[in-house]
Amino acid sequence: MEDIFDFMSKKGCGNIIHGKSGKEKYWSLRGRVKREKSNIWTMDMDRSLLKLQDKCVVCGGNQNLAIDHVFALKKGGKLIPGNVVVLCQPCNSKKNSRDLKDLEINFANKIINAAKEFKDYWDKIKY
Ligand SMILES: [Zn+2]
Repeated sequence: MEDIFDFMSKKGCGNIIHGKSGKEKYWSLRGRVKREKSNIWTMDMDRSLLKLQDKCVVCGGNQNLAIDHVFALKKGGKLIPGNVVVLCQPCNSKKNSRDLKDLEINFANKIINAAKEFKDYWDKIKY
């Protein structure tokens, strides 16, 4: 099963994604994700995500917004902070359940950054 952290690890971009402190932060995040075996999405997360990302993270549109999984559920992705972003319907269907590596790099980067943005935001308000 691949999640966003596996993906970043393979791409060697843990440092970029998680800032200067790099590997340790990356691995501790990864460990935490591994411990979270089930989906842990809550209404609070829902509200916080939509507050932070009130438009499509790719094109900035605000029509027919939906929460999308970075790694599709059917491919083993989970409904957890770090694997969710807000996309409009056209961007959502463009992404569909494709893996990030199969998307244009700009499109994929916007999704990765937005997923990280919400994970950081959630970690800050959670503790
Ligand atoms: Zn869009």
